[in-house]
Amino acid sequence: MPPMNIDRLISERARQIDASGIRRVFDLGAKLKDPINLSIGQPDFPVPDPLKQAAIKAIQNDANGYTVTQGIMPLRHRIADHLRDEVGWDVDLRPAREADASKPALLVASGTSGDLLLAFQALLNPGDEAIIPDPYFVMYPHVARMCGATAVRCDTYPDFRLTAARVEPLITPRTKLVLLNSPSNPAGVVASAAECRELLDLCRDREILLISDEIYDEFTYSNAREETAVGPRCPSPARCEGCDDNVLLVRGFGKTYGCTGWRLGYAAGPRRLIEEMTKLQQYTFVCAPSPLQWGVLPALDLDMSPYVADYERRRDMVVDRLSRVTELAEPGGAFYAFPQVPAHLGLTASQFIEKCLEHSLLVIPGNVFSSRDTHFRLSYATDERSLTRGLDVLVKLMSA
Ligand code: PMP
Repeated sequence: MPPMNIDRLISERARQIDASGIRRVFDLGAKLKDPINLSIGQPDFPVPDPLKQAAIKAIQNDANGYTVTQGIMPLRHRIADHLRDEVGWDVDLRPAREADASKPALLVASGTSGDLLLAFQALLNPGDEAIIPDPYFVMYPHVARMCGATAVRCDTYPDFRLTAARVEPLITPRTKLVLLNSPSNPAGVVASAAECRELLDLCRDREILLISDEIYDEFTYSNAREETAVGPRCPSPARCEGCDDNVLLVRGFGKTYGCTGWRLGYAAGPRRLIEEMTKLQQYTFVCAPSPLQWGVLPALDLDMSPYVADYERRRDMVVDRLSRVTELAEPGGAFYAFPQVPAHLGLTASQFIEKCLEHSLLVIPGNVFSSRDTHFRLSYATDERSLTRGLDVLVKLMSA
């Protein structure tokens, strides 16, 4: 029999997703000897020891089976306490029939990506619209597409701020949600408390949901933090008065604790929505990885500030070197910067990264994250020596 043509069976949904952008950069990187790699989107420090020990202990204690879909109770309690301190939310962890419907609920999911996929699946019908920033985290438009919905891109150049004034003209009767990502990937920009408030007011007024992807919240640097009851923190719409019926707060453990491969995140927000997301998780992911839920139990008690201070120093290095040679919106958080390819070079970002590759430098062209191809993303989650080498190359190329 001739080999079967599987291609004929592939769905339109899968076909519409083009993975070529990032894959191309990785393929090119694989060919380089000793590359200066400023393309990585994860921390360069190891998982803190208490987390490793807790995960090992859980495996040895046979906590290797399914957990309840919502996540293990001790972790949900710890997250609920954290959210009470951090954003003032009174999360109700009781089962649906006993819980106060007006209070936020909580779901532990397989990564922040898991939370976002479940939220989009629970909210979007084919033809619906989700407003996302442009530039955006690569996953957003694809997740919308997986639901048959459209990601409407809000142009945030040149300062990369998702403001209510920019979002408002894009709202239509089909808009179900606005997605705020602060600190942002790829620009590292942090929304101010006033911007969070205005965006929330707009969403409330139009009766749409505001999803706040705060996966990088811990990596918010001194000048971008807001004063809260528990000290300076990343501004969040979740801290605004009257937000708990239309903000879905999405956070993760992977970036903050260097355990991206553990696939752990959580979502908190309106009970009705969390219930639907929980139902969908039950029939897809089932639960987040069980020993690793125990593994992150000590996480929220750890002081990560030395790591954050270290990244802030690297952010300062990037800003100091690059703002002399190009346009750069100063990153207030995460571990990325999104500089412009200087206009006098007459190059698209994709052409510019070819030049970088000639110098063994790996960065990601803006068209992977955007409808424009004018900027590039560099990650400074790397050792200072590599960062300095990379910045030397960039300064030389940009000053040419
Ligand atoms: N949101 C943003 C903005 C991200 O940058 C990432 C990861 N790069 C995610 C969500 C997904 O994170 P996770 O690994 O927890 O799924």
